[in-house]
Order: sequence, then structure tokens, then C-alpha cells
Amino acid sequence: MEFKYETKTEAFVVPEGRCPECGKLLDRASICEGTPAPPEAGDLAVCFGCTAFLEYDADLRLRRLRDPAGLPPELLRTLVRARARIVVAKRQN
Ligand SMILES: [Zn+2]
Repeated sequence: MEFKYETKTEAFVVPEGRCPECGKLLDRASICEGTPAPPEAGDLAVCFGCTAFLEYDADLRLRRLRDPAGLPPELLRTLVRARARIVVAKRQN
């Protein structure tokens, strides 16, 4: 699947979906750390609305991350850092 990169938001424009936790409309995906890359099946995500840990399924729809405690520790730390950055960003807006 091809996604347009939007320079203004530094995010990829993805098909609209809703967070399974809070229902927020999600239509952009930005990378947590490293080089910008579009989302792929199995990638993890953090909801910008409620900071729930999510994952992309095979159809690139977001679903609740079933077993965060089962992730490799470094991956879990990356998600926690992303959650913290969202909390800070929301306070500043
Ligand atoms: Zn949410």
C-alpha cells in the first residue's frame, strides 16, 4: 500500500480508522523513532487520543495490542517513550 507523506505534520496519510479504545478518528501515522516509514502489517502504534497501545493488522486496521507485557523489553520501552511524548505534546497544545 502506498501512503502520501505529509511534510506539515511529518506523518503519513493513512486510511481513516478509529481507535478501538477511545474511538478517536485516526488518519495519520508518524514514526516514533528513526527514519520516517509508512505503517506495515504487524507494526505497533500508540493512539494520539488516549495513548492506547495498538497494532496494525494484515489489512492495516488498528486493533488493541493484545499482550504488551509479552513484547521484547526494548520495544515496550519505545512504546512507553512514544506515549510520554504524546502526553507532553498534548499538554503544549
Ligand atoms: Zn484511543
